[in-house]
Amino acid sequence: MNVYDSEIIIAILQQEGLEEVDSPDNADLVLLNTCSVRDLAEQKVHTRLGQLRMIQEQTNPSMKMGIVGCMAQNLKKDILRKKPYVNFILGPDSYRHLPELISSGGDKKRLIETRLSSLELYDGLFPARHEGINAWISIMRGCDKFCAYCIVPYTRGRERSRKPESILEEARRAVDKGFVEVTLLGQNVNSYRSASGGFPDLLEKMAGINGLLRIRYTSPHPQDVNDDLIAVHKDYKHIICNHIHLPLQSGSDAVLIAMNRTYTREHYLDIVDRIRKSVPDMAITTDMIVGFPGETDQDYEDTLDMMDRIRYDAAFMFKYSSRPGTQAAKLEETLSDDEKSDRLNRMIRLQYKHTLEKNRELIGRNVEILVEKESKKTGKEMMGRTSSNKIVVFPAQNYKPRDLICRVITDAQGVTLFSSR
Ligand code: SF4
Repeated sequence: MNVYDSEIIIAILQQEGLEEVDSPDNADLVLLNTCSVRDLAEQKVHTRLGQLRMIQEQTNPSMKMGIVGCMAQNLKKDILRKKPYVNFILGPDSYRHLPELISSGGDKKRLIETRLSSLELYDGLFPARHEGINAWISIMRGCDKFCAYCIVPYTRGRERSRKPESILEEARRAVDKGFVEVTLLGQNVNSYRSASGGFPDLLEKMAGINGLLRIRYTSPHPQDVNDDLIAVHKDYKHIICNHIHLPLQSGSDAVLIAMNRTYTREHYLDIVDRIRKSVPDMAITTDMIVGFPGETDQDYEDTLDMMDRIRYDAAFMFKYSSRPGTQAAKLEETLSDDEKSDRLNRMIRLQYKHTLEKNRELIGRNVEILVEKESKKTGKEMMGRTSSNKIVVFPAQNYKPRDLICRVITDAQGVTLFSSR
């Protein structure tokens, strides 16, 4: 989402006559587009600001600095107090104020605009994309789910969806520029609603775009996965990717209630069952949080049990990190950092085993691969992705990026598949 927002910001700045440069040493203006979802992401911004401050002091004294995105929204008071050298702070719904900043010639002492909008979708603004295979396209913004641990509903506001015509137009423009894959984005992508239908209807419309080879999306909420969505995957398998990212977060009903995730183990297993009955080879990936306040040994074992039952193709796994301002931040932490690390490490080992097993099941199978680029390691190999979002490395031969090819999987190591024939 931040890559997409940065592309929107670049488009706004280009309309004002600004150009991108390759280093802050040469920049009149540096914007840090920030994320507040985890503490680590925020710490990185503080470090980066320190580095930019040094550049400003030592080599580029006229450089202006701004913080945009979720951290601007969330930590503006803190930034105002502790970082006097930051010239402006714009929240995720305020990027249209950038021209105001530019037209003031940067003389304005400090520009702060972090009001959340129930309408802002940046419709009519087309992102400035660098050349590539995949174009990110935001189809909705905000979130109404209010998971107890998550800051997003407070930093990005209420859910609102773009009109399908605007999304289709953006996708067609991306194809005209050489993109062959789009990833539809939303904090809760399958909560998408428009006057002409929901998320499955949008996917159906997208599937009719000439020249588009693949459609991905992220991240759906399990609560909003319905039979229409599963049917669209089945009916448009040639273009809608054979992959669903289905964040579980915890396999314990007690923790799921505390997290306000609005589904149970049983409900989630039923969704997985319906997906696999309809599209048996669909890759399923997930997000997990270990060490949520109050997570007992049994809660944790229940989560591992869900992983054993579902056997995810891959997972993003994190230690719980308290986000000030959320409901969960009011709960007392019950595990030490070491205990959380132990739980996380055991979970990672289990997932690694499942990933390898799932990938080895593909050995001997002929799979469709979208060629992306030369493989970094040898230069004689290329890498691409299956529809199920697995990386495959294969001999370069005469393949070019954007080719859609079929090859037999001959080996699987870690998260990577290999095809030597
Ligand atoms: S669904 Fe939950 S985790 Fe996802 S953005 Fe909304 S509040 Fe955050």
